[in-house]
Amino acid sequence: MPVPVDLLRLGDRHGLAIVDRGGRLSAVPAVAVADGDRWRRADPGDGTAEALLQLLAGTPGHSAQGRFEVVSWTSGPAPTTERPITVDQTNESIIVGDRAVVKWATHLEPGPHPAPSRLAALTAAEFTAMPTPWGLVTWTPHDGAETLVATVTGYLPGAVDGWTWAVELFKDAARSGDHTTVISICSSLGTVVADLHASLAATVTTSTRADAQRWRDGAFATLAAARELATPANTQLLLDLAEQITAVLERLSTLVDIPILDAHGDLHVGQVLRTDDQLVVADFDGNPVLPPAERVLPVPAAVDLAGILQSLTHVAIVAAERSELSPERLAPVDADARGSLLDAYLHRLSQTGHADLHIEHALTAFRLQQVLREIVYAGRHLPRWMYVPDAALPALLEEMSR
Ligand code: ADP
Ligand code: MG
Repeated sequence: MPVPVDLLRLGDRHGLAIVDRGGRLSAVPAVAVADGDRWRRADPGDGTAEALLQLLAGTPGHSAQGRFEVVSWTSGPAPTTERPITVDQTNESIIVGDRAVVKWATHLEPGPHPAPSRLAALTAAEFTAMPTPWGLVTWTPHDGAETLVATVTGYLPGAVDGWTWAVELFKDAARSGDHTTVISICSSLGTVVADLHASLAATVTTSTRADAQRWRDGAFATLAAARELATPANTQLLLDLAEQITAVLERLSTLVDIPILDAHGDLHVGQVLRTDDQLVVADFDGNPVLPPAERVLPVPAAVDLAGILQSLTHVAIVAAERSELSPERLAPVDADARGSLLDAYLHRLSQTGHADLHIEHALTAFRLQQVLREIVYAGRHLPRWMYVPDAALPALLEEMSR
């Protein structure tokens, strides 16, 4: 392990080290070797995650230690016994005592970081449809903004994300023709998203002309990139329907003086974990395609709603690709899923007194931008994902023309 740039001590033998790996910073668990002045990278079982949990349990509230800040929402005895999370992940997560998950930001993002303020606001509002936040550690570099280096949440045994649970659900519904479960789960999800927004209502402000212009310019930048990267059929569609597409995206420039809030920012089914009896929203790290300074800015609630709705269409496309089912058999499942999510969302938003957060005429524009982003993402990073926007773009444009 390189000599740490900075170190937060966790008890006598453990630490959270910020290390520089060829110009990229990483937050890693560390354990002292022999004399206690040198450190090595800790592995699951070395007790560094346990030491962080002990620190959190012993210091509820906020405490600053040099350039680190520790926020704890937990007291009580700290669990022990570490084991690694083995699913596909960007950072490194350790399960402690089957009760907590410690995520070290080994893939450290430059700040500012949206999660600390969102988790604090949601905790204060007693929002429960998320992995229970136990605490977090932030770090502020000499020359930059505060970022997140470790997050601790309650462990949810058996939790799987929507690219698994929703795909299975859609396939079952298409095969049996019985959409009851899809409708009931997507309704619950709509309620959860409305509760999320209602819980973040303390952050509501009003959009300015500059905000609207930034959203509009961002969408056109995505469109330009998508034009370069799309496969031939979509390139042709983007050309043929350029006028209609431009008109829809241009609507974003009219979103002036509307309510905006510290939303999730990157909401899609992959961020929704499902256990036997609940749906929870995870990952408040913001949208990775935006620069950090933009990830923390308030947006219309429609950004989240569009993200989750459009991802259901993508679930249907994935379900068709990974089974014998035709897109035609999945289309009615997709329609029922989106319809029930939207109905439940609007119903709950009204119930909680926040109906004004819903900006109906922004929804299509943000859905379209999401599909264009999938083209860009697939084109730049994951070519085998391109079949999703290849199917989603014509479907959305067809829906828009109705
Ligand atoms: P990364 O930033 O490394 O991708 P995530 O927060 O997305 O980390 O978590 C990666 C995976 O770990 C999730 O998809 C989920 O399967 C699992 N996971 C994350 N948090 C929890 C939790 N609180 N309980 C159970 N599993 C979790
Ligand atoms: Mg993730």
